[in-house]
Amino acid sequence: MQTYGNYINGHMVEPVSGEYLDSDNPYTGEIWAQIARSNVADVNAATAAASAAFPAWASTTPTTRGKLLNNLAAIIEREALRLGEIEVRDNGKLIAEMAGQTTVMAEWYRYFGGLADKVEGSVIPLDRASTLNYTRYEPLGVVGLITAWNSPLLLLAWKLAAALAAGNCAVIKPSEFTSASTLEFMPLFEEAGFPPGVVNAVTGLGNECGQALVDHPDIVKLAFTGSDATGQHIYQSAAKQLKPVTLELGGKSPNIVFEDADFESAVMGVISGIFAATGQTCIAGSRALVQRSIHDAFVERLTEVAGEATIGDPMSMDTHVGPVTTEPQFQKILHYINVAREDGATCVMGGDLYTGPGSAGTRFVQPTVFTNVTNDMRIAQEEVFGPVLSVIPFDTEEEAIQIGNDINFGLAAGVWTQNIGRAVRVSDALRCGTVWVNTYRAVSFNSPFGGYKRSGLGRESGQEAIKEYLQTKSVWIAQDSSVANPFVMR
Ligand code: NDP
Repeated sequence: MQTYGNYINGHMVEPVSGEYLDSDNPYTGEIWAQIARSNVADVNAATAAASAAFPAWASTTPTTRGKLLNNLAAIIEREALRLGEIEVRDNGKLIAEMAGQTTVMAEWYRYFGGLADKVEGSVIPLDRASTLNYTRYEPLGVVGLITAWNSPLLLLAWKLAAALAAGNCAVIKPSEFTSASTLEFMPLFEEAGFPPGVVNAVTGLGNECGQALVDHPDIVKLAFTGSDATGQHIYQSAAKQLKPVTLELGGKSPNIVFEDADFESAVMGVISGIFAATGQTCIAGSRALVQRSIHDAFVERLTEVAGEATIGDPMSMDTHVGPVTTEPQFQKILHYINVAREDGATCVMGGDLYTGPGSAGTRFVQPTVFTNVTNDMRIAQEEVFGPVLSVIPFDTEEEAIQIGNDINFGLAAGVWTQNIGRAVRVSDALRCGTVWVNTYRAVSFNSPFGGYKRSGLGRESGQEAIKEYLQTKSVWIAQDSSVANPFVMR
């Protein structure tokens, strides 16, 4: 049994309460680790360490900060497989996916390391001769970073790389279900040469440890990935202290297939959008909008290919669909399958828990496809976060856009067409932060990612993301210091 404390000021320390929480392996069902159950006292200690480290870190030159982030990136590449295996043990997602994520996350640290000394203020050409006015970007202070269980280290990289490059210190709170990889990651900062206290991690329950972090007066900004309900709650809490927030929330993304699409590519794209990662991804293409002329043939081919997916051990490179990460999530998926049936959708594939070969008797759901779905049904409007696809027919381009946008979320969308004009028109008309044309589930360190509507606030990745962790100062220097009239604005 592995036991993890909190990582504060460069050391693993026991939680003040002495209490721990169990963490299970979603595939075997075994409790394999214990994590600290932290409370306000632990959050206070972590925030104090980060606050003490902040002045020196903020005045470290951006070039030096960038070099440290590059050191870290090299160490991450060395440790990627080990970290990926820990994530699989904790969240049950496929080793092919998690090791890929823990490898590619190095690129976020490298990119923002490179960006650190390229954030430039400007000299403002004022309409007065004797005053120099320039802007500079300054770090915010100690930021609180809260991540979801589905991709703990990659979601952390999207926040932490930008925050550190900008000169902030951080206190991290991973999900109680998947904290181990974050704790294993922390000592790598020391090896890379980061001063103690710049990066800290506390673990525990969301409404206890997470809330204490949100409410701490010395945490000056929050960046959160999780559900829209928790995101809304955090936004309200942060508003009491006027803290800025970056929110990466849920989605109900349309994956739109036109009759002129490359049929086989579209089938693969829709499958990748919903059954990869067992559907536990914010960008899941959980609504397949399929043009009516190809609807039946498309559903037939989709269920044929998806039906061949290998279900089982996430540590095997041959597995396509693994277990569901948490018990509450498992129950939620089964609940939504019932809701879809009760609302009149037709289940043409799956529709139950999976107990067949490879299931190990644990939390498996059959890849599930519903047809006869209308966009007003709950299965089309609410995020399931599991391998459950709703197929909705449409007739015209206008109708596809209308259905695609008729949703509270706006994280992503897929468009499958060979018609370049249509690709551009539909991409422009969709109200969401990312549109993929003839591909799906692609992200990159240098491309902005974030949501419209209830899918979030702010952007991660890409050049603009570093501004989420900076504030602008305007400096005025009068060359002629005589004060003509002190009672009027200058
Ligand atoms: P939750 O919203 O339940 O939790 C997210 C994080 O917030 C966890 O670390 C959780 O801790 C913590 N938390 C819960 N309550 C509080 C609180 N009161 N104060 C502070 N922190 C709190 O989401 P899930 O973990 O269930 O993740 C799934 C959701 O995340 C889905 O809706 C999905 O769409 C979304 N998501 C969005 C992504 C994006 O980039 N847009 C990417 C990945 C997921 P604990 O787990 O310990 O309760």
